[in-house]
Amino acid sequence: MKRALITGICGQDGTYLAEYLLELGYQVFGVVRREPQTARWLHPISDRLELVYGDLRDATSLEVAFRKAAPDEVYNLAAQVFVPTSWEYPAETFDVNVGGLARLLQIVERQKSGARVYQASSSEMFGNVDGLCNEQTPLAPTSPYGVSKMAAHRLVQTYRERGLFVVGGILFNHESPRRGPEMVTRKITRAAAGWARGDKKKLQLGNVQARRDWGFAGDYVKAMHAMLQQKTPTDFVVGTGESHSVAEFVGQVLTELQILTGNASFAGPIERYVVVDPRLVRTNEIHDLRADSRLIRKELGWETKVDFPSLVRMMLQSDLSVAGEFSSRMMVAS
Ligand code: NDP
Repeated sequence: MKRALITGICGQDGTYLAEYLLELGYQVFGVVRREPQTARWLHPISDRLELVYGDLRDATSLEVAFRKAAPDEVYNLAAQVFVPTSWEYPAETFDVNVGGLARLLQIVERQKSGARVYQASSSEMFGNVDGLCNEQTPLAPTSPYGVSKMAAHRLVQTYRERGLFVVGGILFNHESPRRGPEMVTRKITRAAAGWARGDKKKLQLGNVQARRDWGFAGDYVKAMHAMLQQKTPTDFVVGTGESHSVAEFVGQVLTELQILTGNASFAGPIERYVVVDPRLVRTNEIHDLRADSRLIRKELGWETKVDFPSLVRMMLQSDLSVAGEFSSRMMVAS
């Protein structure tokens, strides 16, 4: 039975990856830095996981996790992930996102166990590119988060040259009902669940013309696993190849809201629901990001199963059901 160690197992990708690896028959270990009871999405599988307390900033805790897990595969998903926070705390972002990977790689190198390492690299490393991005596209990040991911990605390549099996998956945005509530897609679907309950408050957003290549996280964790099964370690770009603006995301949410609630009044223009707050417009905002992921599709047979409307519907359905539970609990309580 193969053994996998996942950092960031309580996060969006960590929970999908843990489920997928369990399905494949892996023994799964996860590094957590808080009470896993608070990680709602881990509940259904928590009795099949081995969790170890640890922090990417603390080498000793990572060594303990490695001793316990003795992993064949390590998936480094933990990170300070939010771009605006990286402007507020650039040094801490580096300590976690770059220092954390450096600590893991040093342990793997010293142990000489041959463990394979997957690093969660990001499309934010590309910065503003006109057109599609592939594995050859120069990296020109525009935020401390992007720079930290670029530095970690370079570390991947440097340790690979020293003989470690380590790969960086350059993943474009991927979403799901498990996406953090601070991220724009979840902000929108959560607000929409409120509109369905009669909430009239407009959602404040930054640049609604910014475009992203949004895929489904459940598809993307399969790419992570496939990348560690290669003969020769190689980095790949992973994305759908389609981009949509934030305004289009809101428009799709309104369309789905009409279908799911049967209420035709949920219609555009989006200005009825959304107001642009200049304070939320990001410094050096990336205006468009789109993946050319032909290489991973050809070499590893990776594919996306969930398209844009289905992704939006899935997220909205989940937030509507949470809102439904919440309002019925409130009614019982009152
Ligand atoms: P999440 O924010 O959902 O999860 C991140 C996890 O990292 C959380 O569980 C968090 O722990 C953990 N974490 C943060 N700091 C530390 C630390 N110091 N020590 C240990 N654990 C820590 O992110 P995603 O699942 O969406 O992303 C996974 C990875 O993929 C990240 O590295 C991200 O940068 C990268 N990525 C994601 C993309 C996306 O669109 N989702 C796109 C490209 C790259 P806690 O639960 O305690 O807060």
